[in-house]
Amino acid sequence: MSLHTITLMTAPPLTYLSEEERMFQASVRRFARERLAPRVRAMDEAGVFDKGLIEELFALGLMAVDVPEEYGGQGGTFFQSILAIEELARVDPSASVIVDVQNTLFSNAIQRWASDDQKRRWLPRVSCDTVCSYALSEAGSGSDAFALTTRAVEAGGDYLLTGRKLWITNAAEAGLFLLFATVNPEAGYKGITAFLVERDFSGFRLGKKEDKLGIRASSTCELVLDDCRVPRENIVGEVGKGYKIAIETLNEGRIGIGAQMTGLAQGALDHALAYAKERRQFGKAIAEFQGVQFDLAEMAVEVEAARLMVYNAARLRDAGMPFVTESAMCKYFASQVAERVASKAVEVLGGVGFTKDYPVEKLYRDAKIGRIYEGTSNMQRLTIAKQLLGNMK
Ligand SMILES: Cc1cc2nc3c(=O)[nH]c(=O)nc-3n(C[C@H](O)[C@H](O)[C@H](O)COP(=O)(O)OP(=O)(O)OC[C@H]3O[C@@H](n4cnc5c(N)ncnc54)[C@H](O)[C@@H]3O)c2cc1C
Repeated sequence: MSLHTITLMTAPPLTYLSEEERMFQASVRRFARERLAPRVRAMDEAGVFDKGLIEELFALGLMAVDVPEEYGGQGGTFFQSILAIEELARVDPSASVIVDVQNTLFSNAIQRWASDDQKRRWLPRVSCDTVCSYALSEAGSGSDAFALTTRAVEAGGDYLLTGRKLWITNAAEAGLFLLFATVNPEAGYKGITAFLVERDFSGFRLGKKEDKLGIRASSTCELVLDDCRVPRENIVGEVGKGYKIAIETLNEGRIGIGAQMTGLAQGALDHALAYAKERRQFGKAIAEFQGVQFDLAEMAVEVEAARLMVYNAARLRDAGMPFVTESAMCKYFASQVAERVASKAVEVLGGVGFTKDYPVEKLYRDAKIGRIYEGTSNMQRLTIAKQLLGNMK
C-alpha cells in the first residue's frame, strides 16, 4: 500500500476537531452566548458596535488568531480563525465580520506580504488593541476592483494619496487601513500599490457611515484621502504589485465569509429548533408535525453541506494546497444557505419570527450581505467557471 493511500485512509473527517480546536471553539461559543448575545439587539438598533466588546475580543485573542506569538498573537491556525468567525456569526454576524476582516484580510495580508520590519511595527498593535480595515472598493470600482482611481503620487520620499474609498468595514473603529491606490493610472492594474495608512495621518478622514439593511452594528464607511501623506516605508509588498495582494488576500477572505454565513444559518436553525419544541398548536408542539420536521431537516442538511465546504477550503489553505475554487464555491453556497435557512427560520417562528422580539428577523436581514461583499455571487461563479473551462484563449 502506498504512503498516499495510507494518508488518505487515515485522514480525519472534515468536522473532526483536534483537542486544541475544540477548546478554542468552546471558549468562543461561551463568549458569544454569555457576553455577546445580551447586547446584539441593542447594537443592531443603535447601529454601533459596543466598544467594550471589542476590547473583550482583543483580550480573548480573537483579533489575532493566527498571528505568531512573537508578535503578541495567539499563534493559531487559519482554520481556528474560521471557527471563531462561525461561532460568533451564530449569535451576531456583525461581531463575526469585525473579527473576519481583522484576521482573514488585514493580518493575513500583512503576514504574507509585509517585510519583517513592518511586521514588527504593526502586528503587535493588531494583536493588542488596534482594529484594522481593508480598503479596496470605490464608488466606480466594486466588482471591477482594479478600475480603482485613488491616486498615489511620489513627493519627497513619501507618497501623497488622493481619492475616496467606499464601503470600508470596521472603518469607524479602525486605526490601521490596508489601502490600495494607483501610482500610475496608465499602467492599469500594474499601477496598483498597497499602502498602510494610519488613522491620524494628515489628509485622511472618515466620510459617510452607511445606514444598512443588515450587519448594522458593523461599521461601513467612506474614507476620504486628500493629499494624505504616507511614508514610503508604509508600502506593503512591491510598488505596482498591490493587485496581487488584493486578489490573493480575498481568496482567503471568502472562506471567512463562508464561515460567517454558515454560522448565521446554524444560529437561525438553533432558534427554529428551540421554538418548534416549545410552541404548541392543535394541542401539540409544532415540532411534532411532520411538515415542520421536514423543514428543520432540510435546514440542517443545508447547514451541514455549507460547513463541510467551508472547513474543506480552510483545511486546504492550512495544508498549503490550492483552494481558490473551493473558496469561491463555499462563499457562493454558504451565502445562499444563509438566506434560505434564515428565511425558513422566520417561517417556523410564524408571526413572532417577523418581529424584532426574536433574533431570526435580524439574521434574515444579515444574511443578504453574504452574496455581495468580497465579490458578488456572480464574481464567485466567474471564478469557478474559469477553473472549469481553463484558459479559453
Ligand atoms: C456592508 C458592506 C461592507 C463592505 N466592506 C468592504 C470592505 O471592507 N472593503 C472593501 O474594499 N469593500 C467592501 N465592500 C464592497 C463590496 O466588496 C462591493 O460592494 C462588492 O464587491 C460589489 O461591488 P459593487 O457594490 O460596486 O457592485 P457592482 O460591481 O456594481 O455590481 C452590481 C451587480 O452587477 C453584477 N456584475 C458586475 N460585474 C459583473 C460581471 N462581469 N458579470 C456578471 N455580473 C456582474 C454584480 O454581480 C452585481 O449583482 C463592502 C460592501 C458592503 C455592502
